Amino acid sequence: MTQTIQEYRINQLRSGFDQRKIDALIITHVPHVAYLTGFSGSSAMLVLTRSAAHFLTDGRYTEQARQEVRLPNVDIHIEREWWKYVHEKKLLEGSSIVGFEASHTSVASAESMKKIITGRSWQAIVGMVEAVVMVKTREEANFIREAAGIAAKTYDHVLRTTKAGMTENDVAAEVAYISKKLGSESEGFETIVASGVRGALPHGRSTNKVIRSGELVTLDFGCRVQGFYSDVTRTFAVGEPSLFDRAIFDLVLRANEAAILAAKGGMKVGVLDAVARDIIKEVGYGEEFAHGLGHGLGREVHEKPSISYRFADEIAHVGAVITIEPGVYLPERCGVRVEDDVWLTETGCEVLTEAIPKQLIIVE
Ligand code: ZN
Ligand code: ZN
Repeated sequence: MTQTIQEYRINQLRSGFDQRKIDALIITHVPHVAYLTGFSGSSAMLVLTRSAAHFLTDGRYTEQARQEVRLPNVDIHIEREWWKYVHEKKLLEGSSIVGFEASHTSVASAESMKKIITGRSWQAIVGMVEAVVMVKTREEANFIREAAGIAAKTYDHVLRTTKAGMTENDVAAEVAYISKKLGSESEGFETIVASGVRGALPHGRSTNKVIRSGELVTLDFGCRVQGFYSDVTRTFAVGEPSLFDRAIFDLVLRANEAAILAAKGGMKVGVLDAVARDIIKEVGYGEEFAHGLGHGLGREVHEKPSISYRFADEIAHVGAVITIEPGVYLPERCGVRVEDDVWLTETGCEVLTEAIPKQLIIVE
C-alpha cells in the first residue's frame, strides 16, 4: 500500500524529533493540521508522539473529522477543553520533552498549556512544520492552478468591464462577485486595486478613488480551490499610458520573466531574489523595489519560504509553490507589480498562473 501525503508528512515530522530533541509535538496552527491530516475545518489540534497521533476537534466537527482525517492509527477526540483533556487522558504519556509551535501559540495559550499539562518539559519549535508542508504534491499544485484558472476568468471580466470614471472599489467589488460566482471558495486577502499615483503603495487596498484615463491599475487578488490559494497581481492601463509608465512596466515584466526562467527547486532564495532585483537595480530603481521577490503559497497566502534577500541562505525546496512578484513603486507617480505562482521542480518550475495574460493590456 502506498503512503498518503499526510502519512508521509507525519513520518517526516517524526524523523526530525531527535534533531529537535523532542519526544512529541503539539500542532496548533489549523492550516498545518490540515496539511498533516486532510481535515478542512476551522478548529483542530494534533498531538503527535513518537508512536501515536491524537486529533482533537470540537463537537461541531464530529462527522467531518471522521470523514476527512485519513491517517492510520490516529485517535479522533471530540472535546472542548483540549489542554485539560490531553492531561487527563494522558495523551503525552511517555513523552518527556514536548514541542509546541511557538510562532502559532499565544503567550496566554502557552501559559495555560504548561500550567494544565504538568510533568513535561517544553520546547519552543519554530519552522519545523513549515519546512515539511512547504513541499506540495502535484495534486495540491493543481488546486492552485485551478484557483488561478478562476483568477484568469475574473481578470478577463475586469478587463472587459473596467472603464475610466469607475472607482477602485468598483473594480474590487467585481472581483469579489465574479470570482465567487466562478467557484472561488474565498478571496484570502483584501483585494488590492491601486490606480495612478496610488500604485506606489505596494499594499494599497481599494478606495473610492476614481480611475482616470491614462492611469495604470495594479490588481492583486486571491482565489481558493480545495483550500488552496492562488495569488496573482496584474497591472493594466485604462486609456493610453505614458511612455514612462510603459517603460516601468516593461522593466518589471522583464524581472518577473527572468526570475521565472531561473526558478528551480533546491536553490537559495537569495539567489532567486537577486535575479529579479539585479535587473531592476541596473536601471536605477533598486530602492523602489522595496520588498522581497515572493513567498510560499498554499493553504495560506503567505507560507515559507520567503523569497527574499533577508533570508538569503534559506532553500526553496523541490515541490514548493512560490510567488514571483517584483514591483517598482514611484511615489507621486505610479507603481507596477507582476505576480505569478510557480511550482518548483528539479529542473525549473511550472507556472500555475499561465492562463492569465501579463503583457500590458490597455482598456478604454
Ligand atoms: Zn498578491
Ligand atoms: Zn503575493
